[in-house]
Parts: sequence; structure tokens; C-alpha cells
Amino acid sequence: MKLELPDLPYDYKALEPHISARTLEFHHDKHHATYVTKAQGMVKDTPMADDDLETIVQKAVKESNTGLFNNAAQAWNHTFFWNSLSPNGGGKPSGAIATKIDEDLGGYDKFVEAFSNAAVNQFGSGWAWLALDGGKLKIYGTANADTPIAKGQTALLTVDVWEHAYYLDYQNRRPDFVKAFLNELINWDFVNKNLAGAK
Ligand code: MN
Repeated sequence: MKLELPDLPYDYKALEPHISARTLEFHHDKHHATYVTKAQGMVKDTPMADDDLETIVQKAVKESNTGLFNNAAQAWNHTFFWNSLSPNGGGKPSGAIATKIDEDLGGYDKFVEAFSNAAVNQFGSGWAWLALDGGKLKIYGTANADTPIAKGQTALLTVDVWEHAYYLDYQNRRPDFVKAFLNELINWDFVNKNLAGAK
């Protein structure tokens, strides 16, 4: 991934009524854009200027550069989040990830329960993840900008549970947003692609 602001992979209205165009406009054009601009400013004229975004995030971890980490990781997390969503998404997966969920997590219902808990119970701002750790599926929440790529894991799926992700559409009802994500929005093709590409 490059350190840049990509276009959304769909129209601003494509995820309605689950995520409004207004939310996507603010979230992508303002929040995501700001993380990208700030991180670009921080790596400009440094040896990291030409690094890919994953490398920048990992170097920021190593160097305990919190300011750069927060902005670079948020740039990465948001691009990954846009791709985790689909206008025709949600519900049960198919393909390799379906088998893997059965094997590692005990089935789709257990996945829903664990992912919902991680997303709903993440205190304050953060993310919920389905990730691959040592070949096994894991579900967990992370605070603020923290991300599986800072832990040497492979991210497969994420939902943004910062209030800016859902407040215009759901106000304080994060559980309803998470339910819509699970039932209507998950891009399982993207998850399968990430699983296939994992080393
Ligand atoms: Mn966000």
C-alpha cells in the first residue's frame, strides 16, 4: 500500500442505508485525508519518504515514533476498512474463509459473537479485527490507531469503531452499526483475497 489517499472503491451513496453518503464524505474526505496528509508531512525529506505504508508503520513502531505511527497506521487502517466493505456484502462467507472460520473459530455463529463483542466492547476509539496470527484466525479489538500489521500479523477484515465512523447515522448505537456491518457490509471476497495472499 502507498501512503496516499485512495478513492473509495464505490460511490459515496453505495452503502446506504447502512452507512450514509454524508458519513463517507466526512470519514474519507476529512478524517482519512487528514491522517494521510499528516503522515506525508512527517516522512517528507526523510529516508522513509519512498517506503511503502506498511514499512513506514513498522519503522514508526521500532523507533517509538508515536506521532508518525498514529497517522501512518490510521492511513493504512482506513484504506483497509474501505475495502472491507461492499454494497452487496455481509452475511455468511463462502470459500476458504468459511472453512477456516469453521476450523479455527467453531463456525459462523461463533465468529459473529466474537467479532461483535470485540467491536462493541472496544472501549473508546479503535478497531475490531479478524487477523491471521501464526496461521490461526484471531479476533480482537485495538485502541486508537493500533493495527495487526504492527504485531507481525496479517489483517483479514476490520471495522472502524471510532465514533466518527457511525455517529451521524447511529448516534451512540454502536451495536446497531456493528450489526449492519456483519449482516450487510462485509466484503468476504476481500477477506478471501487476504487469506489467499497470507504467507
Ligand atoms: Mn475512521
